[in-house]
Amino acid sequence: MGGQGEGRLKAWIGPHAFFVDNSLELMERERILAEKYGVGFHIHLSTTGEEDIFCQEHFGISAAQKMAALGMLDHPIIAAHSVTIPADDWPLLALHPFTAVTCPSASMRAGADAAPVVGMRGAGINIALGTDNVCNSNDYDLFTEMRTLAKLASFREKQPSALPARDVLAIATAGGAKALGLADQIGDLTAGKQADLIMLDRSGIGWQPYAANDPFTALVYSIHGLQVTDTMVAGRWLLRDQQWTTLDYPTAATQLNESAKQLLKLRDHPTK
Ligand SMILES: [Zn+2]
Repeated sequence: MGGQGEGRLKAWIGPHAFFVDNSLELMERERILAEKYGVGFHIHLSTTGEEDIFCQEHFGISAAQKMAALGMLDHPIIAAHSVTIPADDWPLLALHPFTAVTCPSASMRAGADAAPVVGMRGAGINIALGTDNVCNSNDYDLFTEMRTLAKLASFREKQPSALPARDVLAIATAGGAKALGLADQIGDLTAGKQADLIMLDRSGIGWQPYAANDPFTALVYSIHGLQVTDTMVAGRWLLRDQQWTTLDYPTAATQLNESAKQLLKLRDHPTK
């Protein structure tokens, strides 16, 4: 693969949702593909419990048990949402390279339940943080997601700090690295890992009073993504002093608007 993402971009298998819009036959073909290329799956799972209703009805077992029986759980799975996985299945999933990617803003916006993040994490399931697609959240700010996750966990558990700020940050960083099978390369600042980092100006509002404010609490509850001043990926600055170094923002915005116009035209005047 060439271009700017060389060496860093890897394709996984991305069926939308097992059992919901994936037949057993398709799932087997996807499993073979995953095995052939040594990759995992990105799926939507347990947003409303559809999979479990289907699997109980057709096979008399839960969706997770059926996924295990089909060999799907032997491959890494990034399971977006993971709101309604039965607690009985948490120990099974914890034994596999399975990640529940919680998307708290999208869940709230859709009127879904709050994912049992504290319980799943306690059972040993890896948890990562997602935004869901932009139609369901209108925002890709992971700082907003951290704060929403923390508040939603407390709301669900009826307990203050049900997910402490440090745990929320670990979910947003190391949890994501583990989900991708890259925990030995990224996810924290350790000698020998890739130089992935962001910088924030701690003189800014949100950090004050500097002496009294716990930095983890500030990161999770007070700071926004637009306050990031610099971003380095694999040792290369992509954002420096809040200026993109690899793209021209006005040109990119113009192109995006042109593409949107074309899409709307296609929607309003579909060609055969
Ligand atoms: Zn989604």
